[in-house]
Amino acid sequence: MKRRHFVGGLAAAAGVAACGKEAADCGDSTHASTERFEWSCVTSWPPKYPGMGMGVENLAARVEAASAGRLKIKVYGGGELVPAFEVFDAVSRGTVEMGHDASYYHKGKVDAAQFFTSIPFGMNMLELNGWLYYGGGLELWRELYEKFNLVPIPCGNTGVQMGGWFNKEINTPNDLKGLKMRIPGMGGEVLRRAGGTPVTLPGAEIFTSLQTGAIDATEWVGAYNDVSFGLHKAARYYYYPGWHEPGPGLETMINKDAWESLPPDLQAILETCCQAITTDMVAEYTHGNTFALQQLRDDPNVELRQFPKEVLDVLKRMTDEIVAEWIAKDPAAKKIADSYYAFLDKSAYGQAVTEQAYLETRT
Ligand code: CA
Repeated sequence: MKRRHFVGGLAAAAGVAACGKEAADCGDSTHASTERFEWSCVTSWPPKYPGMGMGVENLAARVEAASAGRLKIKVYGGGELVPAFEVFDAVSRGTVEMGHDASYYHKGKVDAAQFFTSIPFGMNMLELNGWLYYGGGLELWRELYEKFNLVPIPCGNTGVQMGGWFNKEINTPNDLKGLKMRIPGMGGEVLRRAGGTPVTLPGAEIFTSLQTGAIDATEWVGAYNDVSFGLHKAARYYYYPGWHEPGPGLETMINKDAWESLPPDLQAILETCCQAITTDMVAEYTHGNTFALQQLRDDPNVELRQFPKEVLDVLKRMTDEIVAEWIAKDPAAKKIADSYYAFLDKSAYGQAVTEQAYLETRT
């Protein structure tokens, strides 16, 4: 049985290209390949972290089972093989074959990738999947990553996040002024424009920073993950909704040479398992958030609050300004934004008369 690691995969990929269009030159393509692959996957998550980290562990297990062991993927937590925020570079260079993270971490390298995770006041999970799989979003994503030698595959979603933990009440837009909050990405830029001070901290440092007062507030994910970090023991006010991350999608990215070295059936298994992981991760979050929110609602030291409309209106206005300025100077972002907002403008009505209208009948 032939075993191949990625170093050999590059040469083998060239061999596939060399066999050209004549099927006879490449052997009988009607029989499944027995070739075996052993890949490494680096991630931005703490090892086996609930939701995001387990999603990629589950992906590796499913791919191995579905391929009868022909594609084995070893998953590394953030920092185990490469630092948590260097997944993109490691996969792009071919240091490893595969990575799992969120595309908005690539801000500064490829800003336009933020649309494929989440944009403040943008698509929810249902809309994002609709746009990616049926509205041309995934094609735009693949085009954007082409020059980095990467193939992106949607893989996971946290659902709408929570607004975050605050050590004081947020009653008016003025309460955002001077607020030092851990909030990464475009959400942080929006907060800055509203008068706050955004900071970026890795997950592991959030609890202590909030508890010691080094920061006044933090967002992380939702109740399931936030409780696992103990954030409810570090601040009293838990605000919703997560205006800044209304349904962030995660990504599997594959080094393009590694991708092309896979036979078509293994490519199909990998893509199908990634899509299954999106469903599975949403199920895990829905279940986990349900019980964690119940716990927080019953906790006398926690107050769940909805952001006042006046505050959300200001944050929405700041978001619109920032997006308009951004796409005016970034042609790659403009192209994706045109497709993203064309769909969102229509789907907003669809969501209002279906999901939103239905949920309002239950409250
Ligand atoms: Ca978040």
